[in-house]
Amino acid sequence: MPGIYFDHSATTPVRPEVYEAMEPFLREHFGNPSSFHAFGRTARQALDEAREKVAQLINASPAEIVFTSGGTEAINTAITGVARSLASQGRHIITCAVEHHASLDTCRALAGEGFQVTVLPVDRHGRVDSGELREAITDGTILINIMHANNEVGTIMPVEEIGAMARERGIVFHCDAVQSAGKVPLDVNGLNVDLLSLSAHKFNGPKGAGALYVRKATPWQPLMHGGAQERARRAGTENVAGIVGLGRASELAGRDMAGEAARCRVLRDRLINGMLAGLEDVVLTGHPDKRLPMHASFCFAGVEGEAVLLGLDVKGIAASSGSACTSGAMDPSYVLMAMGLDTAVARGSMRFTLGMENTEAEIDYCLREIGPIVARLRSMSPLAGHC
Ligand code: PLP
Repeated sequence: MPGIYFDHSATTPVRPEVYEAMEPFLREHFGNPSSFHAFGRTARQALDEAREKVAQLINASPAEIVFTSGGTEAINTAITGVARSLASQGRHIITCAVEHHASLDTCRALAGEGFQVTVLPVDRHGRVDSGELREAITDGTILINIMHANNEVGTIMPVEEIGAMARERGIVFHCDAVQSAGKVPLDVNGLNVDLLSLSAHKFNGPKGAGALYVRKATPWQPLMHGGAQERARRAGTENVAGIVGLGRASELAGRDMAGEAARCRVLRDRLINGMLAGLEDVVLTGHPDKRLPMHASFCFAGVEGEAVLLGLDVKGIAASSGSACTSGAMDPSYVLMAMGLDTAVARGSMRFTLGMENTEAEIDYCLREIGPIVARLRSMSPLAGHC
């Protein structure tokens, strides 16, 4: 059973309906949305329609959606834009240790510009404590930056509580919802977020298209200069086909979300239960229930995650050893380290993230194949004795 894809947190396949919606904008509808003629107007109308669909997915209004090239740009724009525009009022930013590098590195860059950054710890499930966050707030705090769900362990953060706290204290709140958007319900008003980032390729849309939600009246400034596109909030000719794909993916995700989440949860639990029952010295990482319904992550003591990954690859199964963005590196994941895992155990981390095309038969195949792979690696591993 080759070609099983369990790496949907890295990226997802484009749905056929999304591809069909995009194709005309790569061919006959090639106009520039800023042009006044009919070609331009067709493209402009497509952007407007996509904006409505993205807004609907997160209960925002279309005017609050700024299209970007993806999650990384949205996050960079949000954090940098708020920090620079509020620098005269305060220079303190709060974030947490398990954020994606798009957040952590942007905060680090701002620290180089003289901002103070508090990086909050997380508990053993990867959750920030909202009480600790409250204590970290100072008179100079201008921005709270906490993700909705973690990409490595799937843990969902107490975003509603954090949002309420930020609102009460008048602090701008940005949420990286790249892993959650299109998979679980998101309501920017219920969550009290001022800015929220999302990315099409994580929910069956194309790569290179994303959006930043910016609540009306949020103090903020653009990162990209050089044109009046996106009402002067993001310069540069729009990726029309990509944005059309983002819009269609948002529409489909909104429509199918409840059923897909329920279906994936059943498969995910089958994988988790099978893994914990069938193998020795395996731990589930992340929160046992406050986690994305399609996300299962483990540590296999006594082996290197990369070696398990290779063994699975040979059997036609694609998974990930931690985050795809860092899987080239052999260091144990900083997320697992922040959660307090033992280094030797963290080295055996594996992530299985499910999507629309996965089946029960694929889960069962994976469960059958992984046991012998881990056993063989353990029999050869110098790490085995240390765990
Ligand atoms: N934030 C999180 C939590 C992610 O998982 C990712 C991608 O893996 C990103 C941001 C970056 O998004 P993009 O790939 O669209 O730049």
